[in-house]
Amino acid sequence: MKSLLRRWFGADNDSSNEQKASVPAPVAELDGQSLDIAASARLHEDLPHPDWRKVYEWIDGFDEGRQEHAFLACERAWLGMLARALGPDYRVFESKHALVLSSRPKNEAEAALAFVDGARRRVRRLLEELAGEETGKEVLLAFADRESYSRYASYYCPKLDESLVSAGMFLHAEREHFIVCGEKMWKIEPTIVHELTHAQMSHLALPLWVNEGIAVNTEERLTGRGAEASEVKALERKHIAFWTPDNIQAFWNGKAYKQDGDASELAYDLGRLLVNGMCRNWNAFKRFAAVADAKDGGAQAAADFLDIDLGEAVRHFLRANDGEWGPRPETWAGAVDVETE
Ligand SMILES: [Zn+2]
Repeated sequence: MKSLLRRWFGADNDSSNEQKASVPAPVAELDGQSLDIAASARLHEDLPHPDWRKVYEWIDGFDEGRQEHAFLACERAWLGMLARALGPDYRVFESKHALVLSSRPKNEAEAALAFVDGARRRVRRLLEELAGEETGKEVLLAFADRESYSRYASYYCPKLDESLVSAGMFLHAEREHFIVCGEKMWKIEPTIVHELTHAQMSHLALPLWVNEGIAVNTEERLTGRGAEASEVKALERKHIAFWTPDNIQAFWNGKAYKQDGDASELAYDLGRLLVNGMCRNWNAFKRFAAVADAKDGGAQAAADFLDIDLGEAVRHFLRANDGEWGPRPETWAGAVDVETE
């Protein structure tokens, strides 16, 4: 996959093969109705962003059977609007499961589409019955340079630190999408696989640690990304020093994933480890994940389908002598956090 992405942005531009791809009009049209996306767009750093509230209102006016088409019409209009604002090289490319906005030659943009389609297919194949219905398209915006990438991203991340500008990211917006910055495209391959995994499981009421644990494991399986043995050792020591029967509750109810510092890094790693162990009995794991409930951190389902006591599993990993390490929902103040990152 990496070679595919390197080819995408690393290849010589074969302009002789280049054909004009489309720059859709910024107006969505369906069944004689239209919505001018540009008319209500918000300008930020000279780039237009759709007013998604208006978009969803327009879509709601259609029968349920037409809403997916209406949404797609809006997405094309959105990307067409953005392409016009970004410059004459930008065009919109489309496949069965993806929409890509790119300024690159056709063959490279098509490789990007093929990559997103292929990643989605591989994720679905890996998840088997855990994958939900196949609807909608993935949207990926490939910015030609860091300047336009930063201007766009700053709409969603106002505190974007220039020195930390990434090669790409997944934006949890009203309409979630991927953004990537030019030649560093291949670096976000794990992000694409990770986020596609969440998207395919969005119909499940998974505890966050299970959801993130599956996404990190999928990422490792499909991209070959993984920690070195020395890093694993160092992390193990950090886990043992960090977790207590009290603060582990933030792991089970998902809040640790949003905390600063070690908590979130260790939560991702602990979720990865637990899911990795539980997945060894894959058929039982699928039955567990289908019914695991965020409200009890998945404890009941783990006992029923995997014969695992979550508290004991963690206590064993942390080499703690005693203590109640499992989910204790009665101590959780407020709702559980199931919002994936
Ligand atoms: Zn995630």
